[in-house]
Amino acid sequence: MSQTLTRAEVAKNNTEDSLWCIIDHKVYDLTDFLDAHPGGSVVLQQIAGQDATSAFYNLHRQEVLQKYASLCIGVLEGEKPEVIDPKPGDISTVPYAEPLWLAPAFKSPYYNESHHKLQRAFRKFVDQDIYPEAQAKEEDGTYISQELVDKMVANNSLAMRLGPGKHLNGLTLPGGVKGEEFDYFHDLIVAQELSRAVARGFQDGNMAGMMISLTAVRQWANDSALRDRVTEECLGGKKFMCLAITEAFAGSDVAGIRTTATKTEDGKHYIISGTKKWITNGMFADYFVTGCKTEKGFSVILVPRDDNVETKRIKTSYSTAAATTFIQFDHVKVPVNHLLGKEDQGFIVIMSNFNHERWAMACSVIRWMRTVVEECLKWTHQRVVFGKPLITQPVIRQKLAKMISLTEACQSWLESITYQMNQMDYAQQSKLLGGPIGLLKSYATRCAHDVADDAVNIFGGRGITQSGMGRVVEQFHRTYKFDAILGGAEEVLADLGVRQAMKQMPKAML
Ligand SMILES: Cc1cc2nc3c(=O)[nH]c(=O)nc-3n(C[C@H](O)[C@H](O)[C@H](O)COP(=O)(O)OP(=O)(O)OC[C@H]3O[C@@H](n4cnc5c(N)ncnc54)[C@H](O)[C@@H]3O)c2cc1C
Repeated sequence: MSQTLTRAEVAKNNTEDSLWCIIDHKVYDLTDFLDAHPGGSVVLQQIAGQDATSAFYNLHRQEVLQKYASLCIGVLEGEKPEVIDPKPGDISTVPYAEPLWLAPAFKSPYYNESHHKLQRAFRKFVDQDIYPEAQAKEEDGTYISQELVDKMVANNSLAMRLGPGKHLNGLTLPGGVKGEEFDYFHDLIVAQELSRAVARGFQDGNMAGMMISLTAVRQWANDSALRDRVTEECLGGKKFMCLAITEAFAGSDVAGIRTTATKTEDGKHYIISGTKKWITNGMFADYFVTGCKTEKGFSVILVPRDDNVETKRIKTSYSTAAATTFIQFDHVKVPVNHLLGKEDQGFIVIMSNFNHERWAMACSVIRWMRTVVEECLKWTHQRVVFGKPLITQPVIRQKLAKMISLTEACQSWLESITYQMNQMDYAQQSKLLGGPIGLLKSYATRCAHDVADDAVNIFGGRGITQSGMGRVVEQFHRTYKFDAILGGAEEVLADLGVRQAMKQMPKAML
């Protein structure tokens, strides 16, 4: 792209034999691209020799220009590009595209320099290393590569997925942040930045199983050597883990599970038999943190994969990159030291990670809502309908007002709860925050429903098309329900919130 050209020179190249056009003050030679253009050659002939900036941005994203940068042959004399070309790690300049604490000139009492350092470094990592793989895997449905896992091990981002805790002590995290500094706002940043890879199936394929199960091993393993070995294997990216509770007969009602763990006569092993459904990452898991019926109740056992564990892929409405799995345990023999917590007292083991899982899902779906708001703001300024940009229509501005308000309200509530998490120890969080976090997740996904619905209408046909301008909106509309069902369905969590409030009602009022 070395030459400087004039508009008159471009205008002369207006035939199939030499077809140039101008986009954002740069000159593109489309002659050899005519047959390859996904939208056909005729539309390119219609803009031959002309300034096609409006026509291009009416239909395409900036990343299309980045993809075909090699077609650019020069710049226009005395003119400069106006469209912003984002670089990895950049903060968006679109209003409401970033949470207020990241928006220029806005302040927040919740975030300090350590949070900013982590955010800057981690966003760059997501943009450069995670985003390209996330997009490819979402499309082809294959699982996360060992190469990316190794990168996440090297910068300790795999360890950050478990949230704050002793496992981070002594580690240096992205941005030079010390593991000991890592609090729930750092955790929120990690969850929200990861969602910016806009690949909902891959997002869960990227160790969501480990995130919700290794915590149980760390907190409840009775054998510390086993706990340390398994932690090292999983956080070192050598082995993978998932949480296997749900069954065809037992979802919201965990008490209904039918998988059994029976002790052998010598008392040294459990024999585990049964099935599990919809287990995230199960296809590539080496360990299954498994809910089982024992003699007098429910227990949780760490089951290593062996020949008696069979895993089959389940297709859902997001990408198979998530590795959603049907599992059969056919008389799997597991040493008794793999029991987590006490026998017959497994509910407390399962419940212990629910708050963090649900809170992390709220972080993620709220960030997705924001990304969709950004998409809609950009699109409504670009798209010309009836001779003027969509944003000039009051009815469209009303939709945007609602979407922005829902997103900002959810983020504010999320930050307020995150602040409480930072102030409370584990016991207080369990007692006081289960209800509020349940209500937050349930409300966030109800808001996501409204945001997805309005966004599709704003994008029209593109909002239900998997490629092109509307692909983020299409994906959100297709997948926000994963956050509404997984980790506790909306109705169940809303009810939990009210039941917890009932327990805390002052007696005098009754
Ligand atoms: C893609 C995917 C990944 C998953 N990953 C995992 C995983 O890794 N590990 C794991 O153990 N599980 C996993 N699950 C299971 C998930 O947690 C359950 O699907 C969820 O808890 C709901 O259970 P269910 O689907 O059996 O619905 P059901 O329990 O049959 O409930 C159906 C609906 O009934 C309503 N309902 C139920 N109870 C009540 C109530 N008390 N009050 C009012 N309404 C109610 C709700 O609307 C609910 O959505 C996954 C599921 C999916 C789809």
